[in-house]
Amino acid sequence: MPKLKAVTEDHPPRLRDEDAAPPRGAPSGAALEKAFDKQAERLKDLQKVFYADGRFALLVVLQGRDASGKDGVIKKVLGAVNPMGCEITSFKTPSEEERSHDFLWRIHARVPARGTIGVFNRSHYEDVLVVRVNDIVPRKVWSKRFDQINEFEHMLSLNNVVILKFMLHVSRDEQKKRLEDRLADRTKNWKFRAGDLKDRANWEGFTKAYRDVVTKCSTPWAPWYVVPADDDDVRNLLVARTIADALEALELRYPKAEKGVRELAIT
Ligand code: ADP
Repeated sequence: MPKLKAVTEDHPPRLRDEDAAPPRGAPSGAALEKAFDKQAERLKDLQKVFYADGRFALLVVLQGRDASGKDGVIKKVLGAVNPMGCEITSFKTPSEEERSHDFLWRIHARVPARGTIGVFNRSHYEDVLVVRVNDIVPRKVWSKRFDQINEFEHMLSLNNVVILKFMLHVSRDEQKKRLEDRLADRTKNWKFRAGDLKDRANWEGFTKAYRDVVTKCSTPWAPWYVVPADDDDVRNLLVARTIADALEALELRYPKAEKGVRELAIT
């Protein structure tokens, strides 16, 4: 199965319904399970040295429509790493205090420290997605945010924050199935919000907004990846492999032991 490729001019995002299906060559069944376990093992090992190395922070941004699998990625992919080196933030509708600041204020406060993996479950991109589609602020405000986001992320990257952004791309039919599941299963009812249906009704509006996001804000320092997300396990494999590859590329190393440590005897 081909690796995920960052969105670039030469690799524009594919956001049709059929693009949410597993890519050609994707494994299934036991082979898929085995492939995922291998990536999970890689991630676990890489995170250990990432934490010890301490030079970089890793920020993983997850965006996607309702029921696209953001929570699933956190549970399964990040579940593979030591929780001690991980920090998950779910961004909700901003509070009154948050709204009285610039839109990046609450975001910056949650950027992970070096040695740590930070995951954003929704993010500053809501400020050019839901905020745009639902007319929460005027166009002249949100349209300037793409550049502001790129500059913010550039500043972070200059400060050793490695940024990977995943848009979990689910098809209309698959989302319908998952939302129906939430209604049918009493233990999932709580996840259902009437607002989800409003967002679903404006499918095209969100597609347009997502297209702008991943096109305008995929940069060499903070790439966007569109993940075919109709199959949970394939989605997890693709995300896990991309994160592991990015960590590996950092050429991480364990810090040198203090002088004389190796000669110490424990009595
Ligand atoms: P989730 O759907 O992520 O599991 P919730 O059901 O609590 O969690 O939804 C969070 C809601 O907060 C979403 O509808 C999202 O669009 C909204 N939200 C997040 N950030 C913003 C923002 N900056 N402005 C307006 N709404 C936002």
